[in-house]
Amino acid sequence: GAVIGILGGGQLGRMMAMAAAQLGYSAHVYAPEPRESSVAAQVSAAYTQGAYDDEAALAAFARQVSVVTYEFENVAAAPLAAITAHVPLCPPARALEVAQDRVNEKSFVEGLGGRPAPWRQVDSAEDLARAVAEIGTPGILKTRRDGYDGKGQWRIMTAQDAAALTLPDVPLIYEGFVTFFGEFSVILVRKADGTVDFWDSAQNVHENGILARSTVPAPAAIEAQVAPARALARKVAEALDYVGVLTLEFFATDEGPVFNEMAPRVHNSGHWSIEGALASQFENHVRAILGLPLGSTALVCPGGAVMDNLIGHQADDWANLLADPANHLHLYGKAETRPGRKMGHVTRLVR
Ligand code: ATP
Ligand code: MG
Ligand code: MG
Repeated sequence: GAVIGILGGGQLGRMMAMAAAQLGYSAHVYAPEPRESSVAAQVSAAYTQGAYDDEAALAAFARQVSVVTYEFENVAAAPLAAITAHVPLCPPARALEVAQDRVNEKSFVEGLGGRPAPWRQVDSAEDLARAVAEIGTPGILKTRRDGYDGKGQWRIMTAQDAAALTLPDVPLIYEGFVTFFGEFSVILVRKADGTVDFWDSAQNVHENGILARSTVPAPAAIEAQVAPARALARKVAEALDYVGVLTLEFFATDEGPVFNEMAPRVHNSGHWSIEGALASQFENHVRAILGLPLGSTALVCPGGAVMDNLIGHQADDWANLLADPANHLHLYGKAETRPGRKMGHVTRLVR
């Protein structure tokens, strides 16, 4: 059978490998950390420890697999040519290039008619002062690359706040603060033949920049914004010739959906689909990259599902969570608990 190559050794890769195994495929994980530190390696037959820019190691990895996908988008796109010389990369490298840089993703989405928060590229203190003067406060300064779970972000409440900041020496972006009444995500799967299917959109609640809870179906006021958000997500997928699962995050505002960011991959806000949808995001991602028929994205029960992340020491309570027979408990097998670290999640179906 086919071997699915996965770039990235975290929990998303772990859940992809589990979905692959269900369909009789094996996984080969490629990540920079030692095998013992990879939670994806725990469920994968094969593991290569290698840097994401080591072209020789990437080429050797590619020769051992049927297709390569990724669970982690902060990988330089250029070295991946060493992979595409041998096997397909799904989603394509172009999706990585667009999604891994906040300036690229916002420009790209604007080009397709989408509406992000007002933003300016920031490469100096002068740029930041100008951005704050033009867009106003409050706002958020973010690193263009490598941010996740709200890391690499600074809230700016006043122009004085901005002036007092010592800027990190990396490319930045300043965004106006969006007044939203909710957040939601659109998760789709697209096959090479152009077939697109969407899961229900979850309402997402973040705490300290980290996803805390996803709920499907979302409340009606959010549901009302899903159609235009899906239309944009479909355009993004088509423009990128996308294959696999794609996620777009949105703010629901009184003026309609505002694009936040995209992830060229399966997404934490779609974990509810493991039990809550007929086919999960992981299963359909595997099916899409192998060119297999897709499973239904429909809800298993009309009441939907609620997924709570277990962050840091919240996972210490796992025995209690397990004591409730209605809980679907997922623990990621991470050896070390750290504050703010995603250790697992728990899903409840709503009947
Ligand atoms: P992820 O783990 O989702 O990749 P990230 O580090 O890329 O997170 P963002 O999605 O940019 O972070 O921001 C995290 C959260 O912070 C958002 O979901 C939202 O709650 C809040 N946030 C970010 N940008 C804005 C904004 N411009 N206006 C209002 N809230 C914002
Ligand atoms: Mg992000
Ligand atoms: Mg986000």
